[in-house]
Amino acid sequence: MLAVGIDVGGTKVLGVRLERVGGRVRVAERIHLPVARGHADSSDGVAAQVADVAAVLSVDTPGIPIGVGLAGFVGTDGVAARSPNVPQVVGVDLGAALHERLGVRPLVDNDANCVATAALALRTPRVSDLVAVTFGTGIGGGLVAGGELLRGSRGFAGEPGHMVVVRDGIPCVCGQSGCWERYASGARLSELATEAFAGGRVAGPDADRSGRSIGSRSARPGELLVEAARAGDAGALEVLAEFSGWLAVGLSNLVNLLDPELLVIGGGLSSALDVLSEPLTGHLASNPTISDRVPPLEAAPMAEASGAVGAALMAMRGAGTDPRPDPTARPGQ
Ligand SMILES: [Zn+2]
Repeated sequence: MLAVGIDVGGTKVLGVRLERVGGRVRVAERIHLPVARGHADSSDGVAAQVADVAAVLSVDTPGIPIGVGLAGFVGTDGVAARSPNVPQVVGVDLGAALHERLGVRPLVDNDANCVATAALALRTPRVSDLVAVTFGTGIGGGLVAGGELLRGSRGFAGEPGHMVVVRDGIPCVCGQSGCWERYASGARLSELATEAFAGGRVAGPDADRSGRSIGSRSARPGELLVEAARAGDAGALEVLAEFSGWLAVGLSNLVNLLDPELLVIGGGLSSALDVLSEPLTGHLASNPTISDRVPPLEAAPMAEASGAVGAALMAMRGAGTDPRPDPTARPGQ
């Protein structure tokens, strides 16, 4: 048993229990729930939900390190000062809540910092300069330079989702207009997919042109669009090519700012890299300022569990255990 990690995002809470088996870091157990919408301090609020998940995952190992990743501007005190996409976590002292309930003070950090930590610890060969970007309800960032996370003076560094890419553009939940996440998040892809299906640009969500099902009715529009692209739908491929251009705008800025060796893609969009990589790399390569040094794009290790795994690894480091326990460690399932 190594640690428990919990990732609190815009729509879901994902908790994992990490183990080391034969030199590999492995997710031994996971819990996946819709994020609580209740008031922060209430019994159905996020703090209670995170404490419940932590209690279940650590039940036979009291005192095990616990890490929590939150989507938002998480300060060095482990409290989210702002969270445009998960407002119910703002001001919540999860450290105090879990300490009271479980007797363990968790490490609380930004969720994309957790993804960056997972990539830093688990990727082989190792890299010391990487940018992790999570594309989900919003866009988060974890910036690693010289092997260390860039945190800024208050812990808020690495929020590329709110870089303005269009002055007076689409209004964002943060209060600005034209933020990158309004053009390139997973939520934006779902909006574009809904428009494409409604306008007939892509065959409807229930059937492609030959009448075959391209996905269940419950799948989100963005996922259905990606499935249609995989099936070769020209309209879907066109939508993804345009969308990739918006992904490239922000990623190009980050490459120019930080000169990373690697771009790690987390969040829901990471599962669509098979169809996004080619148009995205094309857009990046057409940028004259970075055309000769476009970093490789990789999905975050351990897919959607990456943030929770990274939170657990951070908690191990906070507890004095090196999150790189074995130089031959590989991510397992
Ligand atoms: Zn914004």
